[in-house]
Order: sequence, then structure tokens, then C-alpha cells
Amino acid sequence: MQTVDRLNARQWFRWREPVAWAISIVVFTFLFFVLSQVFGGFFGFIIAGGAVFCLFFFYLDKRAFGIVCPHCQKYIETNTPWICGYKQCRNENVDDFPFIYRCQHCGAEPKAYQCHHLDCQKLIFFTKDEQKINFAKCVNVPVKSKPVKKDPTEGKIAKQDAELHDLKHELDVTIIKGNIKEAKARIEPPKMKGLEDKYRGMVKDEDDARKLKASIDEECKNDPVERAKRHAIVDALLRDML
Ligand SMILES: [Zn+2]
Ligand SMILES: [Zn+2]
Repeated sequence: MQTVDRLNARQWFRWREPVAWAISIVVFTFLFFVLSQVFGGFFGFIIAGGAVFCLFFFYLDKRAFGIVCPHCQKYIETNTPWICGYKQCRNENVDDFPFIYRCQHCGAEPKAYQCHHLDCQKLIFFTKDEQKINFAKCVNVPVKSKPVKKDPTEGKIAKQDAELHDLKHELDVTIIKGNIKEAKARIEPPKMKGLEDKYRGMVKDEDDARKLKASIDEECKNDPVERAKRHAIVDALLRDML
């Protein structure tokens, strides 16, 4: 691939075909002259014609040019599929319509190309007026994203946040549980106190206690907690008596 100056790139492309013809004619004339001496006029013409045909269509006519980015100094092949900056047309027939020539669809001639090297992406101007709008760019050029500085404490902070959240949640649960317990305690003592007074009148000896427990068992047969509490009251009353 021939490297050309960016400011003359369009001229080079426009002259590609006439130059290809000129070279082909010169080469053909030379080859025909030499080969006709060896193989005679007819075969000389066929061989020279075939060789020059291949040279023209497979190389000279499709010859692509390269330019060098003046910013990053990297090489850019001008037969890179590109997007036209005027109407955002997609150009894929890049052998005939490279970005140094014109858009195949709207005919616009790009005055600049955005360097497709990711660490550069600056504009390469093809004319001296350096128009900064409507520039051509590479198909699928990824958007340049600022390198994100990774905070080394980021992971640690996230972990601590999660722990803090869990602890706060646990604290809330504990406070609520405590409140429920307190509320229950506020309600229960009078009830228990009432029962205690009631049982005190009923329990005079162990026999009374046994009977009372039997009636408690019957009364609270579906509530083992209540049953245990009442039994404890009876036991305490009995202990007081002894
Ligand atoms: Zn560049
Ligand atoms: Zn276009």
C-alpha cells in the first residue's frame, strides 16, 4: 500500500485510474515487444495482454492508499469502512469510495477523518481550511471513554456499607423486639398479679395445689406457655407457705 500525504490524498485517489492505465500501457508495450521476439506476434500479444490485464484489475485499479496520522504518527489504511459526516451514510465499497475520495451515497467529500486509533481519535484534515465539522469516521469506532480510576478502597467501602446495613437492620429488629417485650410485660403483670391473688385464696396445701394444677392443665391445654406460667405461680405460692 502506497503511503501518501494527507493533503494530497484526494488527488492521489483521483489520479489512481489514469495512472493505472498509463502504467498498464507502458508495461504492455514493453512486454509485447519482448515476448513477440520470442513467441511471435500472436502469442506475444496474448501473454502480454493477459499479464497486464491481471496487473490492472487485481492490483493497479484496486490500489489503496495509506496516510499517516499527524497526531499519533500511526498508519491508516484509507480503505477502512467509514461513516460519512454529512448524512451519516455508511460506506463499505471502500475500494472505489474511500474516505479520502467521496461518499458513495450523498457525494459529499469529507474534509477530515477522525483517527481510528483508540488512543488518538483526533481529526486528520485533508484540506488546509481544517473544517472541524462533518468529518468522516470509522465504522464501529468505539466511543472514547475516560479511563476510570479504580478506587482501591471502593470494594472495602461497599463491603462495610453492606455490613452497616445488616447491623442497622439487626438493631431495628432488636429494638422492636424489646418494645414488644416491654409492652407485653406492661400488660401481663396485672393479669399475673390477679391470678396470684386468686390462687392464693385457693391454695392452702399441696393437695389444693395439685387440684389447681389439674384444673390449669385443663384450662390451658392448648397453651403450654401459659400453663407453665400458672404452674410457676402455684409452685411459688406453695413454697411461700412451707
Ligand atoms: Zn491518530
Ligand atoms: Zn454521505
